[in-house]
Amino acid sequence: MMKTAYFYGGKDIRVVEEEIPVIGPDEVLFKVMSAGVCGSDLHNYRGHRIREDVPWQQGHELSGEIAGLGEGVKGLEIGQRIGIEAEHLLGCGDCRLCRDGQYHLCSDRGVRQGVRHSSHGFSQYDVCIAENVTVLPDGVSFDAAALVDCYACAVHAMNRVPDVSGQSVAIIGAGAIALTLGQVLKANGAGEVILIGTRQQSVDVAVASGSTDVGVVTAVDDPVKAVLLATGGEGVSMTFETVGGQLQLVQQAVEMTRRGGVVSILGLFTKSQTIDPAMAMEREVTLQWSNSFSSWNGASEFSTALDLVESGRVIAESIVTHHFGLDEISEAFAIADDKRTSGAIRVMVRPWGVG
Ligand SMILES: [Zn+2]
Ligand SMILES: [Zn+2]
Repeated sequence: MMKTAYFYGGKDIRVVEEEIPVIGPDEVLFKVMSAGVCGSDLHNYRGHRIREDVPWQQGHELSGEIAGLGEGVKGLEIGQRIGIEAEHLLGCGDCRLCRDGQYHLCSDRGVRQGVRHSSHGFSQYDVCIAENVTVLPDGVSFDAAALVDCYACAVHAMNRVPDVSGQSVAIIGAGAIALTLGQVLKANGAGEVILIGTRQQSVDVAVASGSTDVGVVTAVDDPVKAVLLATGGEGVSMTFETVGGQLQLVQQAVEMTRRGGVVSILGLFTKSQTIDPAMAMEREVTLQWSNSFSSWNGASEFSTALDLVESGRVIAESIVTHHFGLDEISEAFAIADDKRTSGAIRVMVRPWGVG
């Protein structure tokens, strides 16, 4: 038997005992050692998205230890520490985009043999397909491995913009994606990075974690003015928007970007955005979108991100602010939800206990 969390919608989360999942052919059973509470996990918790498949399991930023091997699995051993690409992000493997390595754009993402799959990090055990497992190098902690999901999103956004080396950068947001992105850009030679958050506390974490050179708190400074001031009135070469939601942040991003610069949008907006097209045209600002990750020029972005973590050029632990056991998952979600009071950046759930 094992413990697992079921989500009934909103704040109703129940931890129950049930049978350990059955391993199918080519699958791996693993003990979940660490799982991050992602902003996307909170959409439903906050009542922003209603699901019909009640109750469901979730937890897609996860790492673990192999506990069983399905028929036909080769090259892996029980007890190995592993990183896992979230099951709902995998492509069908058959369509043109998947064959091109752009499985993040597959229209059947998460569906395998007609069945929709998702990872269950908020659970003591989970299964995944063996080819989706990466054996962790010794120096990579379970928390860091769980956060490779965030780092891979950052790597993908970086891959899509022109070479960042020496370039000035603005990052709108101070959540886990903003901070991992800042670390990845700095590690790849970006020039001055200016990170914009709404709370002093999270901007301080961003500075301490090496995610940014300059922190701007919107309650104190107007973000566009602050960026223009820091760049001699010119604006930055690239702006990354990581917040999304309801605010008009795309226009703000355009306004802080220099002529000929790039705006990359990682945030998931739930409201239409208005931009001043004359301004964007005059400046010839490129607007682009960045959605999760897959591979780039044949290299797995997950592996690129894991290499960065292993090398110590980015410090994943510096953005982890809280740990909870599975029995305390409601508290973990409450802390992750109320960042203003808790100061949470990334909250990790340890299904086998925090100790
Ligand atoms: Zn996530
Ligand atoms: Zn596909």
